[in-house]
Amino acid sequence: MNKRRRFLLQGTAGLGLLTGAGILVRAQTIGDDTMTDADTDLDQTVADTTSNWQQFAPAGANLPAVSDTLELDDTVWRERLTPDAYRVLRKEGTERAFTSTLLNEKQRGLYLCAGCELPLFTSAMKFDSGTGWPSFTTMIDGHIETRRDYRLFLPRTEYHCSRCGGHQGHVFDDGPAPTGQRWCNNGVALTFLAAG
Ligand SMILES: [Zn+2]
Repeated sequence: MNKRRRFLLQGTAGLGLLTGAGILVRAQTIGDDTMTDADTDLDQTVADTTSNWQQFAPAGANLPAVSDTLELDDTVWRERLTPDAYRVLRKEGTERAFTSTLLNEKQRGLYLCAGCELPLFTSAMKFDSGTGWPSFTTMIDGHIETRRDYRLFLPRTEYHCSRCGGHQGHVFDDGPAPTGQRWCNNGVALTFLAAG
């Protein structure tokens, strides 16, 4: 074993001891129940933003209901949408990475489907995945539907707007806690509605 490797191993063991001691002290000081509560709170926060997304809408916002299905002819979609949005929403295209203006959007608010204005995500669900596409840890319950996509060698899970069927992106299981999900969205398929 060379010197550098031995040093790294010793360092890791030392860190493990320190971390272990820290947890022991923390458990004795605040008790295990407190730590469990903190984890539950985090899960609850995500659940709240999923079901209570209205708190991220501006006052008096007139947003469509998911039950108000929007079905249009392809020619009408082509007229209503920009060419880039049409290619993603109606033809399952993918925008080039790092091109979306929503990547750096940090205001409180809602992310709506660019095809029909149905709210799909809240700002509390957004995180920086580093992939170049707007990414979310979860979505608004009932507003998104998924389907297996076999177009690439490895099957992926495609997702789309429940109201208009517009393609939004793909969901992966390498996202951050507590959901572990990464909803990888085309920015051109969304519009942002600020809460304030
Ligand atoms: Zn839609």
